[in-house]
Amino acid sequence: MSEFAIIGAGIAGMRTAQLLTAAGHICLVFEKGPMIGGRMATYQQEQWQADYGTQYFTARSPEFKTQVDQWLEQNTVIPWNVSPWTYKDDSFEPSPDEQIRYVGYPCMNTMLETISDKLDIYYDSRIERLERVDKKWRLWDGNGEHFDMFDGVIITAPLAQTLALIPMGLPLELQLRNEKMMPTFSYAIAFSAPTGINKEALFINNGIISWAARDSSKPGRPQTFETWVIHFADNWTTNHLKASEDLLKQQALNLLTQLAGSPLPEIQYSFSHCWLFAKNTKDDATLSYWDEENSIGIAGDWTLGSRMEDAWLSANRLANHLLTKP
Ligand SMILES: Cc1cc2nc3c(=O)[nH]c(=O)nc-3n(C[C@H](O)[C@H](O)[C@H](O)COP(=O)(O)OP(=O)(O)OC[C@H]3O[C@@H](n4cnc5c(N)ncnc54)[C@H](O)[C@@H]3O)c2cc1C
Repeated sequence: MSEFAIIGAGIAGMRTAQLLTAAGHICLVFEKGPMIGGRMATYQQEQWQADYGTQYFTARSPEFKTQVDQWLEQNTVIPWNVSPWTYKDDSFEPSPDEQIRYVGYPCMNTMLETISDKLDIYYDSRIERLERVDKKWRLWDGNGEHFDMFDGVIITAPLAQTLALIPMGLPLELQLRNEKMMPTFSYAIAFSAPTGINKEALFINNGIISWAARDSSKPGRPQTFETWVIHFADNWTTNHLKASEDLLKQQALNLLTQLAGSPLPEIQYSFSHCWLFAKNTKDDATLSYWDEENSIGIAGDWTLGSRMEDAWLSANRLANHLLTKP
C-alpha cells in the first residue's frame, strides 16, 4: 500500500483517486478551488445556472462508453438531444451528425459527486511547491503549510499549472516545455423572456466566437430564464485577455440578435469567466506520464488530447500502470 498526493479534483484527479483507492492505496486530493469538477463547471445562482466550461461530452472509446452507461444508470448523466448548426459565410446552416452528446445531470460535474463522497479532498488548497525529501514527497501550499510525506505525487492540473509544480529538470518537466494550452472566455447570459431563437447549439467560426448554446435547452436545467453560453475563440481570447465584461456582452448580443432576427428581451443575469488554460492545441498527444525513479506522474485531458474523455482515459492509463507495474 502506498500513499499518494493527487493535485486537482477535476475528472482526471477524481478518477485516478477512485482507482488507486479501490486498489487499497491511500489518496489525498488537493484542490485549489472550493469544489470538484475543475473545467466541468456549472455557475449556480438561486434561479439560474449555466455550464460555463465543458458544454457536453461524447464517448468514443469502449471503456468510456461503459463508464457513461453507468452514469446513465445512476441518473447523473443524460443525453442532450441537440441538433447543432454552423455559422458560415454570414449565415447559419444545420449541421446534423450522429454524435450522442451527454451532459451531467443536473450540473456538469454531478457524476463526480459519487466518487468524491468516498475520497479525502482538501479544498481551497493550492499546492505551490513539491519537495523531494528522503525519497518521499512533501507538498507546500499557498499558506506556507506543508503536507508530509507521500510515496508518490500525481498532478492533474492543466499544463502551465503542472509545469509550475514539477521540479525543474525532471524528465516529465523537460517534455512539457514546448507544449501549449489556449485560453477561452466564457460568457453566460440569462434573458427574462424567450428570445425567439429556434436553435440550441451552434459551432461558430467568425474569428471572435467559437460556440453558442442555449444552456436552458439541456435537460434538468432551470427554465425560469432563457440562458445562453457563448465561448470566445481561443486566438481572440489570447489577443483580448483584458477584455471587459461589456465587450464580451456586446459581442454576445451581436450574435444573439442576428440569430433572433429581432430585439432581444431584457437581460436578467450575466456572468463571465476567462479559462486561462482551456484547451490543448493538439487533439492527440503522446506524453509520458509516470517517472518511476522520482515517483511522480501526470494525468489530465492535455496528456492525451483535449476532451473530457481524454482526461478520464488519462487517469485510467496512469492508474492501470501504477497498479500493474512490477
Ligand atoms: C470553455 C471550455 C469548454 C469545453 N468544452 C468541452 C466539451 O464541450 N466537450 C469536452 O469533452 N470537453 C470540453 N472541454 C474540456 C474539458 O472540460 C476537459 O477536458 C476536462 O474537464 C479536463 O479535466 P481535467 O481533470 O484534466 O482538468 P481540470 O478540469 O482542469 O481539473 C484540474 C483541477 O486542478 C486544480 N488545480 C490546478 N492547479 C492546482 C494547484 N496548484 N493546486 C491544487 N489544485 C490545482 C484546478 O482547480 C482543477 O480543479 C472544455 C473546456 C473548457 C475550458
